[in-house]
Amino acid sequence: MTPSHPKVALVTGAARGIGLATAKKFLAEGWRVALLDIEGELLGRAVADIDQSGMTLALTCDVSDSAAVSDAMEAVERRFGRLDALVNNAGIAVFAPLMETSETDWRRVLEVNLTGPFLCTKAAVPLMREGHGGAIVNITSISAVRASTLRSAYGTSKAGLAHLTKQLAVELASLNIRVNAVAPGPVDTAMAKQVHTKEIRADYHDAIPLNRYGLEEELAEAIYFLCSSNASYITGQILAVDGGFDAAGIGLP
Ligand code: NAD
Repeated sequence: MTPSHPKVALVTGAARGIGLATAKKFLAEGWRVALLDIEGELLGRAVADIDQSGMTLALTCDVSDSAAVSDAMEAVERRFGRLDALVNNAGIAVFAPLMETSETDWRRVLEVNLTGPFLCTKAAVPLMREGHGGAIVNITSISAVRASTLRSAYGTSKAGLAHLTKQLAVELASLNIRVNAVAPGPVDTAMAKQVHTKEIRADYHDAIPLNRYGLEEELAEAIYFLCSSNASYITGQILAVDGGFDAAGIGLP
């Protein structure tokens, strides 16, 4: 990377949690970063905290709104003129049994967690193609591969995103665009505070060989690696960053 042409990443859901930690990691590596989030105020505060003399762009946008996503991508092009990495991280969780999952919740979870990455990827590809390639990382979940009594909507949205990752890895390879996923185990973010009950927390601690929740920064490292040139021959992979949970083969709480 030459200083005159720094690389550019767009991270969705970047106002807090794993997305914010990822934006910070890209900045620390010398990239320019567009941070996108539906929560404009929270995003404004996060960007004010981390901005280093104009290296960031804040985009208030709902990833499930195709017109807003197009506008956001145009803003990235106007400001930075290129896009090298897209991290589809924005997501929401509804944990409930089937009979307590409303149709509205079901549709919203799929809209944000699955249609959102579809729309952002579609909008990003032309800009990446102009720059002769790029990398996309989708944030799935261990819920994509393990079923439970509470995650029909969330787990299905993440399983869909995992498969979309493989589809697009094959389809976009000819454009030199790599597509991978990171599948986090539990990380103690605002999302986890919302849906992880005491019982779920206790079960997770017992089920995770490393015996703890992951840190946002540990996820950011894996996401950055997959976007970096160190991962130049890796595409179509789903990297579990879960303290050994998937390997241990124990059921989800
Ligand atoms: P978080 O709730 O702390 O952050 C998610 C961010 O996404 C928030 O800033 C939120 O405002 C934003 N967002 C939500 N809907 C949006 C939309 N429609 N458009 C744009 N932005 C939107 O959650 P987190 O734990 O940091 O989660 C990040 C990703 O990691 C999610 O995709 C989540 O499903 C996944 N994940 C998290 C865990 C965990 O235990 N925390 C485990 C597995 C997977």
